[in-house]
Amino acid sequence: MAHLPGHIIDFHVHLFPDRLFNSIWKFFSTGYGWDVLYKLYYRDCVSYLRSHGVSSIVYSNYAHRKGIAKILNEWNHRILDEIPDLYCFAAFHPDDDDALDIALKALEHPRVLGFKLQLLVQRFYPHDERLFPMYECVIKKHKRILLHVGTGPVGNEFVGLTHFKKLMSAFPELPVIVAHMGALEYDGFIGLLDEYPNLYFDTAFTFYPRYNTHLTITPELLERYSDRIVYGSDFPNLIFPREEEIDCLLGYNLQQIFYDRVFYENGAGLIERHSG
Ligand SMILES: [Zn+2]
Repeated sequence: MAHLPGHIIDFHVHLFPDRLFNSIWKFFSTGYGWDVLYKLYYRDCVSYLRSHGVSSIVYSNYAHRKGIAKILNEWNHRILDEIPDLYCFAAFHPDDDDALDIALKALEHPRVLGFKLQLLVQRFYPHDERLFPMYECVIKKHKRILLHVGTGPVGNEFVGLTHFKKLMSAFPELPVIVAHMGALEYDGFIGLLDEYPNLYFDTAFTFYPRYNTHLTITPELLERYSDRIVYGSDFPNLIFPREEEIDCLLGYNLQQIFYDRVFYENGAGLIERHSG
């Protein structure tokens, strides 16, 4: 029987200052009717995950409007200093007057791995030219982008495979993790892996069969690309138990190497590549 490795790395966690968490949970509830199961603030999130087998935690936050990336990134540096074995995809907003300076400053912390862009919330295209200086900086400094660019569970005009392909044609070398396995255009996104060697996916909020009836990723594809997928939970912003996704993946009963890579080795490799 397949099993999880002794330690797991969670590559898709959200940590925000308490007040922002409150507003996000309220928005999920009123906007989408989603009641988040784990309303835990940042220290409690970390303790929860650490007591459930997670060693390294890679979290992100994003600037939902201009003017807050700097404050969020100062908070990020503080909690990175406070909590060991914690890594971050920092906030960026292209409308900030000093956007590139804020980005460079954020990258000064060795455990900032790059930037998170959440296009559903931030509402710009991934191929927006205002992002190009930041992408160039990410490539030059050997960092990475964590990108929410899929149409699931809800979309808007800024997300989707077509827009992502435009970004990758402009920056074929850009190290990117596409969140949520590219939901809901799974096959189209996964089809890009052979062409773009720096492209990865995370599993966050994808393998919930009772909720995600659109899932088309086959066990064969998972095994074929087991070196390009990292486990992520989307914790604490989940409306179903975190364990359901892990159980779903274990239930496929793939080769043990898939679990060793996805739940630990691939994440460890990316941390080594992008930190420091
Ligand atoms: Zn997320």
